Amino acid sequence: MSAEEPLIADLFEVDKRLSLKPVVDFNNYLRNAFAEGPCQCHRCRDGGDQNSYSHQHNFTLEGRALNRRFATTAGSDVLLVLKKAWLSYHKEDLNLVGALDLAKLKTFTDAALHERLLALLPASGLAREVDGQWLLQAQAD
Ligand SMILES: [Zn+2]
Repeated sequence: MSAEEPLIADLFEVDKRLSLKPVVDFNNYLRNAFAEGPCQCHRCRDGGDQNSYSHQHNFTLEGRALNRRFATTAGSDVLLVLKKAWLSYHKEDLNLVGALDLAKLKTFTDAALHERLLALLPASGLAREVDGQWLLQAQAD
């Protein structure tokens, strides 16, 4: 066996941690966090000015008009699934205060869902971007 073989094997080895249930759940959650079409809430139907909203309702992601499912995507909801996936994948607790390591978060987020992730973090109130750094915000519960 040559010295190169283990390296090549590593390259092709699928990251088994991506199939851990909390990680799969997190990716499914992101996939389902948005619904097709424009938001149907009262404010939006009455022609509410999106710029006056504290959190965004309507999104253009993957070239489509989508809206966030409020009922399941409060900051505390997102945090719950994120914490479980983080612990499961990284074998450490997510630090709930201060900077959110987006690179570590993306390692277990399906690349096709990165756009949704970046839209959901601020829209749910879970995190905000300040000068290129993502900061977690305290959740009510
Ligand atoms: Zn709305």
